[in-house]
Amino acid sequence: MAVGGEKYAMLKQVHFLLTYLCNFECDHCFLFCSPHSTGTFTLAQVNLALAQAQEAATVEWVYYEGGEPLLFFPLLVESVRAAHQRGFKVGIVTNAYQATSVEDSALWLKPLTDAGVDYLSISDDAFHSDQELSPAKMALEAARGLGMGTGAICINQPTIMQPGEGQEKGAPVVGGGAMFRGRAVEKLTEGLPLRNWQELASCPHENLAEPSRVHIDPMGNVHLCQGLTMGNMWQTPLSCLVRDYRPVEHPVCGPLQSGGPAQLVREYQLPHEQAYVDECHLCFLARKALLQKFPKYLAPPQVYGF
Ligand code: SF4
Repeated sequence: MAVGGEKYAMLKQVHFLLTYLCNFECDHCFLFCSPHSTGTFTLAQVNLALAQAQEAATVEWVYYEGGEPLLFFPLLVESVRAAHQRGFKVGIVTNAYQATSVEDSALWLKPLTDAGVDYLSISDDAFHSDQELSPAKMALEAARGLGMGTGAICINQPTIMQPGEGQEKGAPVVGGGAMFRGRAVEKLTEGLPLRNWQELASCPHENLAEPSRVHIDPMGNVHLCQGLTMGNMWQTPLSCLVRDYRPVEHPVCGPLQSGGPAQLVREYQLPHEQAYVDECHLCFLARKALLQKFPKYLAPPQVYGF
């Protein structure tokens, strides 16, 4: 969307955090989800959010994720149907805990296919299962048999990798694919190589200037990154939040965009360590320190571990 030569949000995807509840409590979870988490959409809220996404006029894909969306199976089926009927392409992200065999996986995937799911993304890694034929692999095979598009998400325990051959200089890097936000900050950062905080001068994973994807939760929060929000869609409709989003004027996205997490620290004169694992590590802790200052833009507290 071009306004006065500047570009703003053009939403293509809305990801529902259908529930914060999860059967697992993974060390790398961005959102601190667990069997004790609270917050689940009602079907009425799903329909309201879908109507708001439709008003935004640019949204093509709706995803249902969590937490673990299969824990609320009837709600998930009806939510898929509602999105499909409104003309959205529909994806689901799951840990496939229900899969006990390929054949039986097809039993619970079939109602989802019939309701209109286009794509199934499944967490398939050691955080979720240590079996060779994991539930994820069984569900992926069943999904392919039903004609669904599929993909696997694979995150591993962080590893320290030395610079590659031919790179004589340079610091060790962290491999494994975990993002150091949420519970990963508490559980996975110990012993990893660190970088000086002043080097952490950009946001490497989210396009805060022109976001094309948001996550929405049952409390109405519209997340640009987990716990960093555009506003609340139960107070201001999604289409208005998107239309009025000005990253430079946003009290947290503004500094992040101009100079990364390091600028966030400078701007609000936050106490800090000398070094962090990466940008997200510093960003998460800086935002956590700002939670009470900007409750409208840093929410909900539970994704910061409260
Ligand atoms: S730097 Fe901050 S806003 Fe950017 S991806 Fe990492 S946690 Fe999210």
